[in-house]
Amino acid sequence: MKKAVQTPRIVEKLPNQRWGNIWRNLHMANIPTAWKTTVYCYLNQIIPTEEKRHRHNLTDSPACKKCGWLDTLKHRVTKCGAAKTIWEGAKALLVKVWPDSQLHDWFQTLLVLDPPTKENKFVTVWLASGFLHYQLTKSLHKMEEFLHMLKEEAAKLEMKDDKSSQILKELKLLQQNSSLSLV
Ligand SMILES: [Zn+2]
Repeated sequence: MKKAVQTPRIVEKLPNQRWGNIWRNLHMANIPTAWKTTVYCYLNQIIPTEEKRHRHNLTDSPACKKCGWLDTLKHRVTKCGAAKTIWEGAKALLVKVWPDSQLHDWFQTLLVLDPPTKENKFVTVWLASGFLHYQLTKSLHKMEEFLHMLKEEAAKLEMKDDKSSQILKELKLLQQNSSLSLV
């Protein structure tokens, strides 16, 4: 029997995104499974933010428990307290592997998982997945810890093949020059 293919609800909700590309990027080989799981939940918007809980009458307030702003996914990954520093750092890293990228590219890559380029596709998707995973799974956001997580995963990749060599090179440079250059 043929299995009916159901359109994910998010695709109906946001029909203008290039979902074919986004799902392909999500399933790209050599990206850690834990990162993929987080990104899957992020893309499908099934993470229970206070805003979402409030919409479903599960809580009295849509405000972020940490800072009081409206608690959306975008708030969690770009704005909330120290998460903002990691967002700035991830953008700076992206510019290092993709020097002529612009504001729109950073958003499209790090927040949508759909880098509008064919250059360095693996590295950009890998970085975006690591960024989203870190932002959504850690409660304290520290640049050093974020870079450490990236380095650890990049080192595992280096053993498999040389796909990560560019990002590893950048991470090593960052380590030497201190993380201040990111902010
Ligand atoms: Zn907040």
